[in-house]
Amino acid sequence: MTTTHTLGFPRIGRQRELKFALERHWRGELPTDALLQTAADLRARHARIQSRLDWMPVGDFSLYDQVLDMSFLLGCVPDRAQRSGDGPLDAYFRVARGRAAGDDSCCSGVHAGEMTKWFDTNYHYIVPELSADSHFSLNPQPLLEQIREAKARDHAFKPVIIGPLTWLWLGKTTDGSPRLELLPRLLPVYRELLQRLTDEGVLWLQIDEPVLVTELDTTWQQAFREAYTALADVGPKRILTTYFGRLGDNLELACSLPVHGLHLDCTRARQEVDAVIDTLPEDRILSLGVIDGRNIWKTDLTAVLDFLEPLHQRLGKRLWIAPSCSLLHVPVDLDSETALDEEVRQWLAFAVQKLDELDCLAEALRYGRDSVQGRLQANAQALAARRASGRVRNPQVRQRLAALGDDPGRRRSPHAQRAQRQRERFRLPVFPTTTIGSFPQTPEIRQQRRGWREGRIDDTAYAAFIRAEIARCVSEQEQLGLDVLVHGEAERNDMVEYFGEQLEGYAFTRHGWVQSYGSRCVKPPILYGDIHRPGPMTVDWIRHAQSLTDKPMKGMLTGPVTMLNWSFVRDDQPRSATCLQLALAIRDEVQDLEAAGIGVIQIDEAALREGLPLRRGEWQDYLDWAIRAFRISANAVRDETQIHTHMCYSEFNDIIEAIADMDADVITIETSRSNMELLDVFEDFEYPNAIGPGVYDIHSPNIPSVESMVALMEQAAQRIPAERLWVNPDCGLKTRAWEEVRPALANMVEAARQLRQRHGSRAA
Ligand code: GLN
Ligand code: ZN
Repeated sequence: MTTTHTLGFPRIGRQRELKFALERHWRGELPTDALLQTAADLRARHARIQSRLDWMPVGDFSLYDQVLDMSFLLGCVPDRAQRSGDGPLDAYFRVARGRAAGDDSCCSGVHAGEMTKWFDTNYHYIVPELSADSHFSLNPQPLLEQIREAKARDHAFKPVIIGPLTWLWLGKTTDGSPRLELLPRLLPVYRELLQRLTDEGVLWLQIDEPVLVTELDTTWQQAFREAYTALADVGPKRILTTYFGRLGDNLELACSLPVHGLHLDCTRARQEVDAVIDTLPEDRILSLGVIDGRNIWKTDLTAVLDFLEPLHQRLGKRLWIAPSCSLLHVPVDLDSETALDEEVRQWLAFAVQKLDELDCLAEALRYGRDSVQGRLQANAQALAARRASGRVRNPQVRQRLAALGDDPGRRRSPHAQRAQRQRERFRLPVFPTTTIGSFPQTPEIRQQRRGWREGRIDDTAYAAFIRAEIARCVSEQEQLGLDVLVHGEAERNDMVEYFGEQLEGYAFTRHGWVQSYGSRCVKPPILYGDIHRPGPMTVDWIRHAQSLTDKPMKGMLTGPVTMLNWSFVRDDQPRSATCLQLALAIRDEVQDLEAAGIGVIQIDEAALREGLPLRRGEWQDYLDWAIRAFRISANAVRDETQIHTHMCYSEFNDIIEAIADMDADVITIETSRSNMELLDVFEDFEYPNAIGPGVYDIHSPNIPSVESMVALMEQAAQRIPAERLWVNPDCGLKTRAWEEVRPALANMVEAARQLRQRHGSRAA
């Protein structure tokens, strides 16, 4: 008999019920009981959906974040969140979201816990805050309540917790002390938890240790052995779950830990299955994650059965099957997508459909393929249709790609030469000022867009509105005295969706929401086919903007790597090939902009860093193709056309060479919050091109002073020659209000003026 289970289910709800309940609660419109009731209803619904499985997870549900839940379970709560007089949920949300000064009885405000990406996904967790004197104590009530709820449902369940090593690894010490030194203090709390679970009658426990798919040094490997040995004699049977990658050097370690089962992500570590079976002691179960929990494509059930059947022969009852990881990373239910293109729709599976697939695989293993013949046939037909579809393969795109050969995508001349031509053309002052692209997305802009999308406003009226917005934005910038202007991006709601909607090969869902953090969800577009640009996407808007001013107008595009990293990407060819197709489409747009007389073009690569593989050993390969794709998109222009790029993520020191290799004439980056410390890397590394280290933190409503921005730029000028510096905000201004943006940019322009006085105003 094959056992089926899941590692976790999306908790946000088919209609994003959890999001809306949370936000109402935070606004004071929904009392705590009602919020908790919504959460309980969602859990009940998700349990019903998962009831065909042998084991369903419990405790994977979270009101905000599963890592924060684990921190609370371990009694690791920052002091600033503890306040007498309010309930445990208040402290929880205080850490999750922070509290502005004056928001409640406290006057100083509480800053939110730091948030960062959960492995290589787009989910963000709250970083556990640790220090040498962290102490832990078990706070099991919230988990026990979910367990009691699950017991009442009378269906086998397994609680889910994050293992001690992964939890520590995700944490940060505020005093720089080594996290592993806390392990001896942490383990007694885990022991106590395991004992409590046994007392509750729990039979199986899922312990997530995804850190086992990263490169661990021997200290961490040794800590794994010690920790799991120390926990071996208490608690329920446990399955150690790994996901998002292969075990690599940790394979023997993972197989030798004293637990009762191991879960392997077969979508990414299939090549290790044989080695794991050979190494894993025979009394352990092996769970294979054969359905991709990170993507939305139908599984090739026949191919998976070809793979599983011999393993089933070998393992018998020891074989469990599951999705590769928690289904948190995919949308809930394809059935909600009533407006999706019918052809594309039949190629997809969201969380609910993935459970059907799992069920079908289990039936086939238990009773033979004949028992599910109809389902297998339907699945095979859908996949064959996808493979044969003219929408997936476009011969013209393929030819262009082939013609590219291994062209590295270099500009015609080196940067120094281009810079000279560009100086002659634009005659900008030193410390030129610019912005990152978007200006405030006012309620009026959103309303007009909604009206247009819903057909209440016709194309002509909408275009007239956007043109007027552009004109307003240009005139504001002229009044402010900025040097290189932008059109303001009023026509875009999202930097990927705007382009995706104009490209062939992309589909969009209505309800395909995936949790990004807390109540925040994203709706990644689906990149299903060869990418083709039928016509210009931005040229009319930018040409209009340029016609309104004598200053250079920056054309604004999203780069191929960011398009890729923020989409659900087709799984039938390497990501690098898909990225190159995107690069060719963007390159066409770049050339059209150039032909329309636009001299400065920015290609945003906000998500470049996000695509880095989990293992450092694999970084270079990714960077090689990603950076090349960027260059291919940008390189076809003349020397006197200035290419800018923008990257949000502040930590780029470790990939600085790759960034330099993008060879953008100007790069703007996020630095203001780190006090320019990020620029330390430029002391050892001679960055060759121009750079705009953001001096205005657009994530904050504060209006930066002239002095603060001058001071930041002076710090930058100590590391980068003044003639290569630009003055700009950290990121786009779309989330801010005009009342904030106007004075902030006025100060920024004044700061540039003072800098020119200090440094002399030789033309950059
Ligand atoms: N050009 C985009 C904007 O200004 C860049 C956004 C981003 O980097 N995330 O909004
Ligand atoms: Zn940005």
